[in-house]
Amino acid sequence: MFDHPSAGVVAAEKGNERLELRYGKLILATGARELFLPFPGWTLPGICGAGGLDAMARGGLPVSGKRVVVAGTGPLLLAVAAHVAARGAKVVAICEQAPLRSLIQFAGRMLGQPAKLAQGIRYRWAVRAPMYFGCWPVEARGDGALEKVTLRTRLRRWTVTCDFLACGFHLVPNTELAQLIGCRIEDGLVAVDEMQRTSVENVLCAGEPTGIGGVEMAVIEGQIAGLAAAGALNEAGKFVPRRRKMLGFVRALREAFVLDPELRRLASDATIVCRCEDVVYGDLRRYSGWRDAKLQTRCGMGPCQGRICGAAAEFLFGWCVEGVRPPAFPVLVASLATASTVSEEVQEGS
Ligand SMILES: Cc1cc2nc3c(=O)[nH]c(=O)nc-3n(C[C@H](O)[C@H](O)[C@H](O)COP(=O)(O)OP(=O)(O)OC[C@H]3O[C@@H](n4cnc5c(N)ncnc54)[C@H](O)[C@@H]3O)c2cc1C
Repeated sequence: MFDHPSAGVVAAEKGNERLELRYGKLILATGARELFLPFPGWTLPGICGAGGLDAMARGGLPVSGKRVVVAGTGPLLLAVAAHVAARGAKVVAICEQAPLRSLIQFAGRMLGQPAKLAQGIRYRWAVRAPMYFGCWPVEARGDGALEKVTLRTRLRRWTVTCDFLACGFHLVPNTELAQLIGCRIEDGLVAVDEMQRTSVENVLCAGEPTGIGGVEMAVIEGQIAGLAAAGALNEAGKFVPRRRKMLGFVRALREAFVLDPELRRLASDATIVCRCEDVVYGDLRRYSGWRDAKLQTRCGMGPCQGRICGAAAEFLFGWCVEGVRPPAFPVLVASLATASTVSEEVQEGS
């Protein structure tokens, strides 16, 4: 077994090799993942996360001439729509679940961050597709792969033909490694002080695990953490006012893109929630909590270890998804075997 990390050591994998990394200071910068909310048909090939489609297109997936619907919530939608359009995709709709008034308020708050506002306007300008607010996909259909998606607003429902649906309901900070190390988590985020120090000595954290605030904020936090870890606290302090200013953006994002409670009703009883173990919504709603549901249905016990369905279950059922265990990511059996040998050797020698 991989043990809980002991102070000053993290186990890692590089290719087929298991590494034991010893550190004086550790900076965690594990980013965030997309939140997927299950709806009928969401597991069809052709449907992926918003950032996921962008990453695949950058990685060589041909999107030129393909009809793409971008849906979910947050500024990422416009960025993804602009990026795939630049690669020749025909974006047929951008569906933002937040209502228009939230977006107007958000834009108002962005007046203090003109660069971000200008970036949003540039992205919107680059895509001629209609943008709908208070809108999301309710069903996807296709024979073996996505062909059609049904969208809804409060006033109407309609179906569009498309090849790809890029759908992400904002981001979930990757806090697993920080949790395993014992860092304090507050409101789903790794708690840090102004020098990016966590509650665990010699462990710092930067970027999205401490708050979703975009690339600029992640870079500033990385600079503070790096300088602080090197003992250059005065130098690090010079970046603190910029970070403080960016916290307004983090708050504005969180408030503008709050998920509509109606999204909890997207899944039908037959909709898969845990795609690793094929557990459907109807199986889960009989249970009162994550632990119970996990033990009875194997939800969250597959290869992704609840990274996808856990966050969805939190939103759908209001469950508290606890219980992070090592390893933080699936690893090779060989690495597990070496890990047990190493810990046995340590025990024998101690
Ligand atoms: C398609 C797309 C477009 C975007 N456009 C913009 C934009 O226009 N403007 C903007 O401000 N922001 C944008 N963003 C958001 C921006 O990319 C992020 O805010 C930024 O990258 C966050 O930086 P980070 O260092 O926190 O995380 P990341 O850049 O995500 O880096 C985290 C890294 O940690 C790795 N990792 C995670 N867990 C582990 C582990 N246990 N062990 C080892 N490694 C691990 C991940 O694989 C990843 O490489 C965009 C994001 C996407 C996906």
